[in-house]
Amino acid sequence: MSDDANRALLERSLAAVWHPCTQMKHHEQMPLVAVSRAEGVWLYDFEGRRLLDGVSSWWVNLLGHANPRIVAALKTQLDTLEHVMLAGFTHEPVVELSERLAKLAPGRLGHCFYGSDGASAIEIALKMSFHFWQNSGKPKKNRFVTLANGYHGETIGALSVTDVPLFRTTYETLLRKSTQVPSPDSRLAEPGESPADYARRCARVLEAHLEQYAGDTAALILEPLVQCAGGMAMHDAEYLRRARALCDRFEVHLIADEIAVGFGRTGTLFACEQAKIAPDFLCLSKGLTGGYLPLSVVMTTDTVYAAFYDDRLARGFLHSHSYTGNPLACRAALAVLDILEQDEVIAANRRLAARINRRCEALRHHPQVKHFRNTGMIWAFDVADAAPGFAQDFYRRAIEAGVLLRPLGNTVYWMPPYIIDDEGIELLVGTVEKLLSA
Ligand SMILES: *Cc1c(COP(=O)(O)O)cnc(C)c1O
Repeated sequence: MSDDANRALLERSLAAVWHPCTQMKHHEQMPLVAVSRAEGVWLYDFEGRRLLDGVSSWWVNLLGHANPRIVAALKTQLDTLEHVMLAGFTHEPVVELSERLAKLAPGRLGHCFYGSDGASAIEIALKMSFHFWQNSGKPKKNRFVTLANGYHGETIGALSVTDVPLFRTTYETLLRKSTQVPSPDSRLAEPGESPADYARRCARVLEAHLEQYAGDTAALILEPLVQCAGGMAMHDAEYLRRARALCDRFEVHLIADEIAVGFGRTGTLFACEQAKIAPDFLCLSKGLTGGYLPLSVVMTTDTVYAAFYDDRLARGFLHSHSYTGNPLACRAALAVLDILEQDEVIAANRRLAARINRRCEALRHHPQVKHFRNTGMIWAFDVADAAPGFAQDFYRRAIEAGVLLRPLGNTVYWMPPYIIDDEGIELLVGTVEKLLSA
């Protein structure tokens, strides 16, 4: 494609496509990037220039673009069954995926309910928890407790349990009230206080809240180990252990939103494993299909399932999406699970993360770098004295240097596909260093 043709495509996009999470007017200054194809960790534009995908295309791509094994599985599925409704019907990929996820997930989460994206999984978990208590003769348990700075998606129900002002403030009057308890974000610990001590202090606030309001509370919802959209805020697993114990003691569900952190992102297949706990509801999406097709799932227990099992229709969980359990998406997810297992990706990631950390030794001590942090395959730091417009400026300059990085406010982070190699690491970390010093 010529430069002219590329420019024409960008103009047509701005005229016809309303881009997500974007003030469209900013594109008067900030050029869109048209991607013609992608392979491995690289996105190619129409001029043959390549960009390193430092954020896994919004955290979804685990195993690289155009991964031949996922592509082959999808092609076979496409020739067999592309879609059938899941109400009254079933098919091999959805059964196999549900069985395999149940074996892999912590605890006994033997029942899978499917949605199409992360926000729909959150809607499902909230409605299911509420309906469970209703079916169990406790209709007053209809409130949700969330962590400060938590993010669970942007549909109205999911936004009601999200605490990121940028997404929430405008829509406040549309939302149902939820209660925020302090985030165990390790950066907020007092000097001399360990992350685990701070987690215990935060858990005491949760305890005090539940002591008073458990009778009105359906569930606590949280992002285990890393609050991603809220600025890659990381906490000690101790908080999850305490939260689980408190939810048990006060008869409140624990909803683990592992939409961003599931499938190895934090160093274990699921983040909850690091606290040796199991939630009552586990929400998964993003990495579930390796970034190939939209799919989400809410996994839950026999106890929850049994409360809906009845002769009366209205006691059933009456929720559906047209593409629930789409066979192509389930097939992609099965291919991802195959690769994670066959290539021992979680173990390989530990070595990969160690290499990346070694490359970050100088960056970690850069005078502008505050709270350098890493969990599994997520790295982040805050930039001291960031100028207004820092995030957009950094994003633009990173693209010019050949790397896709999209800071959250003054937090620079990267969470690359698990197949990044030394050349990619060098370009990624080297570019961050260069941009900070410029
Ligand atoms: C991305 C995300 C969601 C929402 O998922 P969408 O597919 O964007 O609707 C929910 N929770 C967390 C933790 C996320 O990172």
